[in-house]
Amino acid sequence: MKFGFDIDDTLINLREHAFHLYNRKLNRNVDISLFHELDKVEIHELFGMTAEEGGKMWNGSLEEIYYTNCPPYRDAAETLQRLEKEGHEIYYITARPKEHGKRTMEWMIQNGFPVREDRFFYGMNDEDKVHIIKELELDYYFDDKPAVLETLSDRPLNVFAKNQSYNQHMDIPRISDWSELFDLLAEEK
Ligand SMILES: [Mg+2]
Repeated sequence: MKFGFDIDDTLINLREHAFHLYNRKLNRNVDISLFHELDKVEIHELFGMTAEEGGKMWNGSLEEIYYTNCPPYRDAAETLQRLEKEGHEIYYITARPKEHGKRTMEWMIQNGFPVREDRFFYGMNDEDKVHIIKELELDYYFDDKPAVLETLSDRPLNVFAKNQSYNQHMDIPRISDWSELFDLLAEEK
């Protein structure tokens, strides 16, 4: 089977990593419970920033957000390793900017994810992921973002949402913890 995965906030805990980074950089102490209640992907409001200020902060912090010690979600790398061992194909489809593609791939390898260069896609808009997913003829795809998940609802593939505070409104199968994956697959059969 062909399995496709988004990276940020699907396999790795990027927004929370950025949240802690913002607290440090801005010398603030915004409570983590507020982060867990957020009903949108962007985190700048928690720090009293406008969308424009938030965009600047995010883009100006990308180096640290992407390449420091962002933790993968528990069991994410192990689960994908097991999938690969069982003979499945693992694809990554991330909307990270083009100039960050190669380094992101290396970072994923360093963090234990099974990566093949020809199965690693990046630099597209959220709305364009659907075209790559279609071309690859994936059997399964996992993502956290409503804007992406919404484009996939009529595709003949199994789409799962990585459970997040900002995708609760979506009526879609979801995975909370990567250790659940093999049970979910067993249920599908
Ligand atoms: Mg994501």
